[in-house]
Amino acid sequence: MPLTLTRPELSRSQNFIAGKWQDAASGARHPVSDPATGIEFTSVPDSGAADAQAATDAAHAAFDTWRDRTARERAQFLKRWHAAIVANGEDLARIISREQGKPLAEARGEVAYGASYVEWFAEEAVRAYGDMIPALMPGKRMMAVKEPVGVVAAVTPWNFPLAMIARKIAPALAAGCTVVAKPAEDTPLTALALVRLAEEAGLPAGVLNIVTASRDHTPATVANWLADSRVRKITFTGSTPVGKYLARESAETLKKLSLELGGNAPFIVFDDADLDAAVTGLMAAKFRNGGQTCVCPNRVYVQSGVYDAFARKLVERVAALRVGPATRDDSQIGPMINARAVHKIERHVEDALAHGATVLTGGRRLSGDGLEGANYYAPTVLGNANRDMALFREETFGPVAPLFRFDDDADVVREANDTPFGLAAYFYSTDVRRIWRVASRLESGVIGINEGAVASEAAPFGGMKESGYGREGSRYGLDDYMHVKYLCQGGLA
Ligand code: NAD
Repeated sequence: MPLTLTRPELSRSQNFIAGKWQDAASGARHPVSDPATGIEFTSVPDSGAADAQAATDAAHAAFDTWRDRTARERAQFLKRWHAAIVANGEDLARIISREQGKPLAEARGEVAYGASYVEWFAEEAVRAYGDMIPALMPGKRMMAVKEPVGVVAAVTPWNFPLAMIARKIAPALAAGCTVVAKPAEDTPLTALALVRLAEEAGLPAGVLNIVTASRDHTPATVANWLADSRVRKITFTGSTPVGKYLARESAETLKKLSLELGGNAPFIVFDDADLDAAVTGLMAAKFRNGGQTCVCPNRVYVQSGVYDAFARKLVERVAALRVGPATRDDSQIGPMINARAVHKIERHVEDALAHGATVLTGGRRLSGDGLEGANYYAPTVLGNANRDMALFREETFGPVAPLFRFDDDADVVREANDTPFGLAAYFYSTDVRRIWRVASRLESGVIGINEGAVASEAAPFGGMKESGYGREGSRYGLDDYMHVKYLCQGGLA
């Protein structure tokens, strides 16, 4: 199916370097495919080290001029970009749905969510305050000022093709940094459209550069940035193994790093919880984007006294979810991103069954009935999950909710923390003492308390442990793109 847009010029098929749309130096291209069928519908440049280097040259050349603009000028650019994103929201949502597979209604939500970061950092740009430090000796003035770190390289995943890149580029540009970016190989079109809108909003040449690459050529492309001492920061969202690789490889030039990595979120339902609210919270947190979000609950712990009642209510809601093509108005769950993703889900479910789980609903691929392609998976609830299962240790990244039974508060907190990851955690309880005790003990960067929808541009988002470091959004989000410089002036006595 072709991509139909009100403004077809938003569908770009070239890199954007130094203010010019251009092919990869090698001329190579790589396909962009329909997530449901795997069939190619367009292509983008398959860039390499030469393109990455050209992007860095441009970003480096533009840095001094961009940082010297007033914060107000940078903010005004971001406001114009925000307005352009909102005005072209429907086209952007269509591009997201087409390449990523999320239903159109959800894609519209992602546009609003991603745009909110651009607006937020337009507002934060003018608030990068420093400090006047009381001098300890006569005749001195001591100050701490914040300055942009320099050229930033951004590498992003496919699950939120707009929001993940917007919440890196916006604070970087607000801080006065210039950017080189590489979107995920499965979903490059949304990022290219965003850059087109930035161009229309008056982006100066070289300030924001983007290159696309296939899975095979990505390592060489990004390695060029890792080795280049002009690139002062890597901001990455994606899997933990790639995040660790980037941290290792950037050690040689000691770059500043923000790593938003994988998760393995627990969702705990205590026996005093409002069960209907807990089910609603789990539906929102677990099944958004077909379960392909880093903050998706991966392990659902339910206290014994309410286990059966909770399972019954949950199964009723999950079985009613409508799976369908992203383009169909009533679809709630689209196809998974690709065949590899579906294989992983199948492997987790098979392994869980082999270790004693039972299927309460779903548990299989879906086809026919208007579903073209092999990448649809039924929303699934598994009962009797336990820690011997692969899904206890690894992110499933699909619409599968495994229920673990527990009895004791201390035990469940220990179990919830028994993972190298620490991105998100959720729990439901009405006991205020329990709430504060559990919230302080859970080892996660983001905690939903009687709440399944936690993301907001006003909040600091990021992980602990092997889920990474750095924060996106909020006033902390700007600091990740700035250095603190200490100025000491003497001779004033
Ligand atoms: P991924 O790590 O495979 O890919 C992410 C990005 O890294 C892509 O652009 C990819 O091309 C690039 N990449 C892959 N190999 C690379 C290499 N050797 N060198 C340089 N770049 C490389 O992750 P994914 O499958 O696209 O995304 C899913 C993962 O992202 C999940 O683990 C999920 O939890 C995580 N995620 C985390 C957050 C967060 O905010 N913490 C948000 C969304 C997704």
